[in-house]
Amino acid sequence: MTATLLDGKSLAKQIREELAVEVVDFIKRTSVVPTLAAVLVGEDPASQVYVRNKRRDCEIVGIHSQLIELPATTTQDKLLAEVARLAADPEVHGILVQLPLPKQIDETAILEAIPPGKDVDAFHPENVGRMMQGRPRFLPCTPSGVQQLLLRNDVPIAGQHVVVVGRSDIVGKPLAAMLVQRGRGGDATVTVCHSRTPDLAAITRQADILVVAIGRANFVTADMIKPGATVVDVGINRTDAGLAGDVDFAAAREVAGRITPVPGGVGPLTRTMLLVNTLTAARQLAGAD
Ligand code: NDP
Repeated sequence: MTATLLDGKSLAKQIREELAVEVVDFIKRTSVVPTLAAVLVGEDPASQVYVRNKRRDCEIVGIHSQLIELPATTTQDKLLAEVARLAADPEVHGILVQLPLPKQIDETAILEAIPPGKDVDAFHPENVGRMMQGRPRFLPCTPSGVQQLLLRNDVPIAGQHVVVVGRSDIVGKPLAAMLVQRGRGGDATVTVCHSRTPDLAAITRQADILVVAIGRANFVTADMIKPGATVVDVGINRTDAGLAGDVDFAAAREVAGRITPVPGGVGPLTRTMLLVNTLTAARQLAGAD
């Protein structure tokens, strides 16, 4: 069996096209242009590329973006002041502080300073708490991208056993919390695994849907996958042979029923969900919901 590809790139394009229509409609109704402010501290080349791509995505769907570039020597107080300025600016609806931050800055303090209504990454504890309680303001971008990928490819979720490998605050934990909620896109039975899980393969082989987010190239091998399972590979690893996911794609696709490629799987959806959240923020702040 060769697995069906879950094509994140074309799905992301489709969602962006839908979003562009919604943005035009929103601007027509409110005269408000949804605006994302991206704060980049320092000159990390990968962060520069991420921010550039996010701003380009904004342009494609008609969302305005601002770039605030600060030197690597920026103090925590200076960054907090910048976040406070953006928080108070009525023309800014979403604030994104690109991580990682230089070591003199406490990331948690910065993320908590972003007002929850403008927290389009959904990292603020209030937004995490709301999501846990099943009444989200925004959904975190990568888990939301994974959920959309499953929903829009008609992959059954309710009643399925989802195994999530990885328990980070940005991927594994929130994704598990989302898939276990009641209702559409949820109702799964979720198992979360991590580096202290013994006999990982015995658990991953039980998965109807296996989501891997660990950051280890080609770690999940074909024998760890139940035949016919849906495999979602969140990992992005730079190897000598180029980008690789956390799943040994070539072998896994012979066992799985559906599988995401890397690149072109979850990544494009993550970026798109940021745009969705920015429009949501603008709607909420404009009282247009
Ligand atoms: P983290 O490093 O924050 O977390 C990794 C998790 O994997 C941890 O919970 C860790 O366990 C677990 N883990 C590590 N090694 C093993 C192992 N051998 N067996 C089982 N579990 C293991 O990573 P992120 O969640 O931030 O990112 C994961 C991957 O996803 C990375 O490749 C990253 O680049 C990619 N990524 C992709 C995105 C996209 O849009 N496609 C977005 C975000 C991330 P423990 O907690 O015990 O240490």
